[in-house]
Amino acid sequence: MEIPVLYRIKEECCGCTACYAICPKSAIYMEQDEEGFEYPHIKEDICICCHMCVQVCPIKRIANDR
Ligand code: SF4
Ligand code: SF4
Repeated sequence: MEIPVLYRIKEECCGCTACYAICPKSAIYMEQDEEGFEYPHIKEDICICCHMCVQVCPIKRIANDR
């Protein structure tokens, strides 16, 4: 599997940190944007492509239910 895409545009991420919390490799870090909102980023050298982060994401779950 490939390294997942957590969001393509910021509207696809509410900064809930669920992906950050669930990652078994601690490969996700939160970083503030210029407005002070935190968004997750994946350290690609650590990620094992388990995709738990995208499975737990509430926004992707809504999108997949459609
Ligand atoms: S795919 Fe797995 S290892 Fe990679 S960032 Fe997501 S939860 Fe972490
Ligand atoms: S789980 Fe989804 S909405 Fe929550 S911080 Fe991660 S990418 Fe953003």
